[in-house]
Amino acid sequence: KRGGSPARRVLLKLSGETFGGGSIGLAPDVVQRVAAEIAVAVRAGVQVAVVVGGGNFFRGAELSQRGLDRARADYMGMLGTVMNCLALQDFLEQAGVVTRVQTAITMGQVAEPYIPLKAIRHLEKGRVVIFGAGAGMPFFSTDTVAAQRALETHCQEVLMGKNGVDGVYTADPRRDPDAVKLDHLTYTDALVRDLTVMDATAMSLCRDNDVTMRVFGMNEPGNVTRALEGEKIGTLVTA
Ligand code: UDP
Repeated sequence: KRGGSPARRVLLKLSGETFGGGSIGLAPDVVQRVAAEIAVAVRAGVQVAVVVGGGNFFRGAELSQRGLDRARADYMGMLGTVMNCLALQDFLEQAGVVTRVQTAITMGQVAEPYIPLKAIRHLEKGRVVIFGAGAGMPFFSTDTVAAQRALETHCQEVLMGKNGVDGVYTADPRRDPDAVKLDHLTYTDALVRDLTVMDATAMSLCRDNDVTMRVFGMNEPGNVTRALEGEKIGTLVTA
């Protein structure tokens, strides 16, 4: 705790796209940069939990369109997230940050199982907790897990790191030149106007439990630190 007020505790969602640098597999240079930016915020006293995506390896929905059983393909997707977790853990430890990986699918040799109370203790001690293997359940996304883990570990905000966009727009800025960036919107706005900030399950979970979310661009150097430390970048989404 700092100055009597509760410490800032946030949940950072990193997509597989970040880990792959836009390709399949791992882009270690990108992961190293993100780890260094997280380390700065941790040293400033921010408690950081991370939920890691896995789209740089497998997406269940895509594999199922190519003949695999959806649930089994989803498990492959979840296993992919764990590789990203280990890469982030490695670069964070190299940057001098103490970390724990907790996975929703038990794999004792590489990570702790997901134990919410232990995760909270780690955060209180200044350790970065990296959540892998999604929810351990097919048909879910890591965005939904980000919302759920934020709620269960009492994070004050969900920070959604995006590639290619720096916030929420009225339309897809990569396709529509008239798209305008929004500084603020509500989950209901996003759902009704079909602004795909994150999946609908995740948004309704955040709305119903009054958790705020900030959507920000990962491409601008320093933005991860800024978002973690509470700078008003990107787009704020509230209930
Ligand atoms: N996944 C799942 N259940 C979960 C989280 C993830 O089945 O709780 C699977 C799903 O197949 C998904 C893949 O893991 O496509 C990778 O996660 P996601 O697509 O959310 O990663 P991102 O889009 O952030 O890279």
